[in-house]
Amino acid sequence: MSLSPDRTVAELRQLQERTGDENGAQRVAWTETWERARQWLREKVVAVGAEEEIDEAGNQWFTLPGASERALLLGGHIDSVPNGGWLDGCLNLAAAVEVLRRVAEEGTPPLTVRLVNGADEEGARFGRSLFGSSAAAGSMQDQDELRERRDADGIALPDALAEHGVDLDRALEARTQLDNAVAYLELHIEQGPVLESLDLPLGVVLGTFGVERHLVTFRGQAAHAGSTPMDQRRDALAGAAKLELELPEIARRVGGGAVCTMGGVVTKPGIVTSVVETAQCLLDQRHLDATWLAEMLSNAEAASRRFAHEESIEVEWEKIWSIEPIPFDDRLLDLADEAVHEVAGSSHRLPSGPLHDAAEVARAGIPTVMLFVQSLRGLSHTKLEDTRKEHLELSVQALDALASKTLASLA
Ligand SMILES: [Zn+2]
Repeated sequence: MSLSPDRTVAELRQLQERTGDENGAQRVAWTETWERARQWLREKVVAVGAEEEIDEAGNQWFTLPGASERALLLGGHIDSVPNGGWLDGCLNLAAAVEVLRRVAEEGTPPLTVRLVNGADEEGARFGRSLFGSSAAAGSMQDQDELRERRDADGIALPDALAEHGVDLDRALEARTQLDNAVAYLELHIEQGPVLESLDLPLGVVLGTFGVERHLVTFRGQAAHAGSTPMDQRRDALAGAAKLELELPEIARRVGGGAVCTMGGVVTKPGIVTSVVETAQCLLDQRHLDATWLAEMLSNAEAASRRFAHEESIEVEWEKIWSIEPIPFDDRLLDLADEAVHEVAGSSHRLPSGPLHDAAEVARAGIPTVMLFVQSLRGLSHTKLEDTRKEHLELSVQALDALASKTLASLA
């Protein structure tokens, strides 16, 4: 029997019917609906003959034993954001089930093949993305902070996790799950417009962007909007506005897919009758190359100081969060290119702007690669998220071809 990609599409629609509503997917991690989705996956994979195990961080593992204990991992996440799309995360799991079926039918694989459903990739309820994968990768270092986190209803994170059998203090024990892993493959929707604009169904992901997030605060002087002459103002918003308009120029100069975003500005006092005294800007900068990311950051800092000087105001930078760029494995990139070529005729390499569980696994030193399938209109994290049926089917074939090549190359 051969692969049946149209079965994958039918199964994804079934999952959407069981765990979504008219507003989209509702599989937020650590909820009843999420458990229902995990049960759905369990039924599919156990029927293939794989054995289930839930680790200390809530990751759901399925193992199909091979001739060797060295393991090929296929990873995805079944959790969604509220009112999310029908493909984000679960596409890979459904496609991997199909790959497992094919592998199991052919007898004992040369390597053990494992499917992992990462717990709480999205961080939708508590604002902490990549929970399960960072625990398994051993990079989770924020337990003290996580203990204090609460959801919108005031429920503490440790209590919500305990309801699903996860003890936050033991989450890092999930690390042993990666002991025998020799490769990690993940298929995902692109969640952006690049492949569609190139008219390509599939792409090979070079790695995930490094991210620098800062709170940039400009400080001036509140003053009466009527009585303060234009040349005597110290307007904090003027500095923020100049910085915002400089960002496209900074990204253009650095190039290589650089992106800079001012995601929000809060002004105080924020009334129509006063010059702005403080403007707090949320700045997000991303690049696939660490040197260029650092260059972007220092360019933005220098520009902000220049604008502060011009406007007679002050500026102060505070780091919110950062992560280094995570390049994927060269050998797996080549195999992924071959697989995509075979299935779709041509391949294209692109970076990933969003983070994925794959980034955590790669950070732990496991050779990793991802495939992207085109997203219509580049939309994701909305019920409007969609991909053409024929492209979804090609993506299942590409993941299968990549899994075959990886097994053959590592056996
Ligand atoms: Zn995702």
